[in-house]
Amino acid sequence: MSHLSALTSYGPTVAEVDLGAFRDNVRTFKKHIEDSMLMAVIKTNAYGHGIVPIGRAAIRAGADRLGVTTVEEGALLRERGIKKPIHILSSIMCDRVTDVVTYDLTASVSSLQLAHALSREAEKQHKIASVHLKIDTGLHRFGIQPDKAVSFCRSCFYLPGLEWEGVYTHFSSADEGKWTTTEREFTLFMNTVSKMGASGYLFPVRHTGASTIAIERRDMHLDMVRTGIALFGYPPELHQYDMISLKPVMELKSIILHVRELPPNTPVGYGGSYVTSGYEKIAVVPIGHGDGYHRALSNNGQMLVNGERANIIGMVSLDQTLIDVTHLPNVNEGDEVVLMGRQENDYISAREIAGWMDSIVDEVLAGLKERVERIYQ
Ligand SMILES: *Cc1c(COP(=O)(O)O)cnc(C)c1O
Repeated sequence: MSHLSALTSYGPTVAEVDLGAFRDNVRTFKKHIEDSMLMAVIKTNAYGHGIVPIGRAAIRAGADRLGVTTVEEGALLRERGIKKPIHILSSIMCDRVTDVVTYDLTASVSSLQLAHALSREAEKQHKIASVHLKIDTGLHRFGIQPDKAVSFCRSCFYLPGLEWEGVYTHFSSADEGKWTTTEREFTLFMNTVSKMGASGYLFPVRHTGASTIAIERRDMHLDMVRTGIALFGYPPELHQYDMISLKPVMELKSIILHVRELPPNTPVGYGGSYVTSGYEKIAVVPIGHGDGYHRALSNNGQMLVNGERANIIGMVSLDQTLIDVTHLPNVNEGDEVVLMGRQENDYISAREIAGWMDSIVDEVLAGLKERVERIYQ
């Protein structure tokens, strides 16, 4: 093996991605939402699961469209043979329009400059660019202000080369259970769509909802829902587990790289933030915050070894994490360690890890770096 390929080859820590479970989740959602279209949102490398295999699996299982954040993600999916509509959900810089039109990506438009740039590029390539108008109902990230929507349409709805296929918004507080806020945002969206419609600006595909709305609020589905995190087996909120049955898609596994016994009062790891109380058996697991295994798990999380829980001790470092295996009689170098997923009768979910980190499942899954090899099953 050459020096270079040694640097780029993978280590013993792997993420197993169950494409069958993912496809089942897509089918479950298709049934759950009945008549609306399903956009599988696979941004951020499919929330860490690998955008190309997940994109293909989504289409195979019946997703109507895919949603991503960047032009690069969309172009990659096209190059790998995906034909269904691919939406760029973020705003983009005007200098990216060449690729948007070349790869037939559906852009989100919330500025006149972008509408004009897309129109010019579509004309140049003798194509029609399909676009969706984004309305800002309260997230205040992208989107046209509702009171400016009609005048915006007046300025650019009939530009050559553009097909305004859809209009949408993204709610600010749907996952926080703030229904009054979400209902106000939904009403604002519907009123804005009506006003545009009354002026002759019609959009066939209207959509507002991500995972939570797809699960809980049929009345807000309209023509399409955009589900992301729930497709990977994690509904945004706990009570939703009773409303839809989904399977976690990813497991994270490693090995015991090294095991040793330390005497009482030995500081362990950077800064000695953990000190042994008696004779303790400490194991080194080759994963760290350089892999996306968060530093917030220092002295504050668990892994499964021989079907039992072992506490993380000391600081999580870039490449290694230490666990206390004193209570386990038979621990050997090379033994399997499950960081997320099932081992014998126990299970550590991404949700449990998120709780230790005081974060959300999205950050646990999507934070996992490329250098952790994905194995598809
Ligand atoms: C990320 C995203 C989604 C998917 O959200 P989930 O809560 O993960 O389902 C939907 N729409 C937009 C605009 C997004 O940015």
